[in-house]
Amino acid sequence: MLEKIKETVYRANLELVNQGLVIHTWGNVSGRDEKSGLVVIKPSGVGYSEMKAEDMVVIDIEGKIIEGKFKPSTDSPTHLLLYKKWPSIGGIVHTHSTYATSWAQAGRNIPAFGTTHADHYYGEVPCTRKLTDQEIKFDYEVNTGKVIVERLVHTDPLAVPSALVNCHGPFCWGLDPGEAVYNAVALEEIARMAFYTVLLNHDKPISKKLLDKHFLRKHGKNAYYGQGEK
Ligand SMILES: [Zn+2]
Repeated sequence: MLEKIKETVYRANLELVNQGLVIHTWGNVSGRDEKSGLVVIKPSGVGYSEMKAEDMVVIDIEGKIIEGKFKPSTDSPTHLLLYKKWPSIGGIVHTHSTYATSWAQAGRNIPAFGTTHADHYYGEVPCTRKLTDQEIKFDYEVNTGKVIVERLVHTDPLAVPSALVNCHGPFCWGLDPGEAVYNAVALEEIARMAFYTVLLNHDKPISKKLLDKHFLRKHGKNAYYGQGEK
């Protein structure tokens, strides 16, 4: 079942390795089937080199395995929480990519320092609060999703398609798994640029005018970047 999404999720997982965002098994991708609401996700702890498309695990929104011989990624409850809260998204990526994770470990939001950032994010990339001891002890992965949603409560998740989990690393999302991977790649580059910007002793985000200009020319109903609809 859902062979097409399995193939997409499988390829998206490999793309994380190709893009240098993931080593070992430090990342995962999932995709949601719009029709059934079922989620396809990477199996837990299976190496990228031996993984096959048919190894992707199909789970329902409560995490019950519908199809698959492996256990789903241990981060599945985080993915499911985000899908439950945000019906508009259809793909999620989690990595421990170096620069984005460095900002997460420092517990810092990534300010919109320039137009590269503003082309992808309508404002800073937010960092969550730290989880409490109780939240770490019980339902850790669900609570990881909850702090992301809590941090983005007043934000359209498609306008800011990434968050940094404090002391942990980035989660990125999009309309589908491919877009989530695209955002994970963009985030890592933006995090890298922001790191050097701070190193150069600059800490001021760009003006609201410039942020609006760059984000809105690429996104939303008045976008004019690219070739548009034919
Ligand atoms: Zn992680």
